[in-house]
Amino acid sequence: MAHGYPNTNVPAAPRESLSTQTLDQLIGWLKDGTFKAGSKLPSQNELVEYFGVSRTGVREALQMLAVLNLIEIKPGLGCFVKSVSSEYIIHADVLAILLEKESVMHVIEARKMVESGIAALATERALPEDYWKMEDVLIAIDRSIQKNESIAVAATEFHCVLAEASHNAVLAKLLRSFTQLMAQAGKLLETSAENLAEFKREELKAHQDLFHVIKQRDPEMSRKAMIDHITHSETLIVAALKRAAEVERAALDTANAGV
Ligand SMILES: [Zn+2]
Repeated sequence: MAHGYPNTNVPAAPRESLSTQTLDQLIGWLKDGTFKAGSKLPSQNELVEYFGVSRTGVREALQMLAVLNLIEIKPGLGCFVKSVSSEYIIHADVLAILLEKESVMHVIEARKMVESGIAALATERALPEDYWKMEDVLIAIDRSIQKNESIAVAATEFHCVLAEASHNAVLAKLLRSFTQLMAQAGKLLETSAENLAEFKREELKAHQDLFHVIKQRDPEMSRKAMIDHITHSETLIVAALKRAAEVERAALDTANAGV
């Protein structure tokens, strides 16, 4: 199962996203100190039960943590948290999105098609309360910036609210199905931003601009603005994935060298 799929139409994403979610959660525990250096992680059986994933999924996630030097697997005894620098944990965090690199690119491709149409429809159909909701999300993004929090989820929410303003339930639901990967990609951009504060301000501005275009009631202008918006994200994501892959390779080399 871990040896990759033959190059057919078998979708790899569901298996990957389960492993990734498990990995994300485990990394979260290490980051927030739920399990401190030297402590023992729950057994594989407990993790299988807790995450509701397969034993293979749990084993893969644990192996990934071991490869990244975040834990040590002692046969017969269990998995122990190693003492690692925060730098390594950022590397590991980025790993989660690298596992889904292909899915992220597919989401971007689909978003350009779907969301350009959504933007045009929303421009024609949005009601006053739809605009209020968009404004609320923009305020929420601003508030998250003030509080030094991630804006990845809120920025994604803007796109969902816009999809709801298309007043087409299928489109709204379709967009909701992208949100997890969209937010993950947003977090990758935040992790890799050279100037995080500036990146967040630019993101807020980009969504405010989009909002103003949509309010002008010109569907073609909205369609184009949305494609430009997603294309800009795509450029940033491609660059960030490239950097992340380099960092990841360096981390693996270090781990393999036994440092
Ligand atoms: Zn956006």
